[in-house]
Amino acid sequence: MYLLCSVKILGKEFIIICPRCGARNIVNLDKFSPEFGGLRRIALIHKDHALIVDIDSSLFMRGAYITPYTHIVGTATIFRDYTVLTDIIIVKNFEFIACWPTKKIIDIRTCPECLTDLYNILSLIVRNLQPQIAKEKINSPETISMDDKHFIVIRNSYVVLFGLVPSPSNNENRVLWFKAICGLLGDSPLPTNVLRELAEYTVERINRRPNKQDILELQKISGKSNS
Ligand SMILES: [Zn+2]
Repeated sequence: MYLLCSVKILGKEFIIICPRCGARNIVNLDKFSPEFGGLRRIALIHKDHALIVDIDSSLFMRGAYITPYTHIVGTATIFRDYTVLTDIIIVKNFEFIACWPTKKIIDIRTCPECLTDLYNILSLIVRNLQPQIAKEKINSPETISMDDKHFIVIRNSYVVLFGLVPSPSNNENRVLWFKAICGLLGDSPLPTNVLRELAEYTVERINRRPNKQDILELQKISGKSNS
């Protein structure tokens, strides 16, 4: 049985100290809507494990569990001071992580692959969130790598998109699709059903370049179409 230390401060803010690794998280409960019977379930991403806490409506901690990352799917999740969206969509062969640096949101819904090494991947992502990039780099986006995982980094004014690629080079078609998707992302994350439809549309066509018709279809799916 683990002993959990929790300190309540400033109304709805908690400091939670992990009994496994000693990591300290500040959790603002106002950011999370209560679920089953007023309980808020929140997952905290730490190195090699997640800490899931249940906090009730009288701000009492009802439970705490150390779990593998795969158990956080669908749970409100925090990594450092970022909110992580975890309603994972299973679409293989077209995976990406989208981030809203100013809103401190990391969306991993379209990247089931990252669950296996979530802490290290999120650390890599956060290190590469700078919003500005030299103009000459925009046409040939940079690739960042960690072990056997490689991501193409594409930015618009709101979003940094990390597209998972099989190898560091020869990703021309994929990059174009990632750019097309990035172009559809505005100042906040898309609903899960829209994201799923975009991913399904793309994955069927990933081996060729997106054409004008594809762009129109993607815009239509995302609700960005004017027609
Ligand atoms: Zn921990």
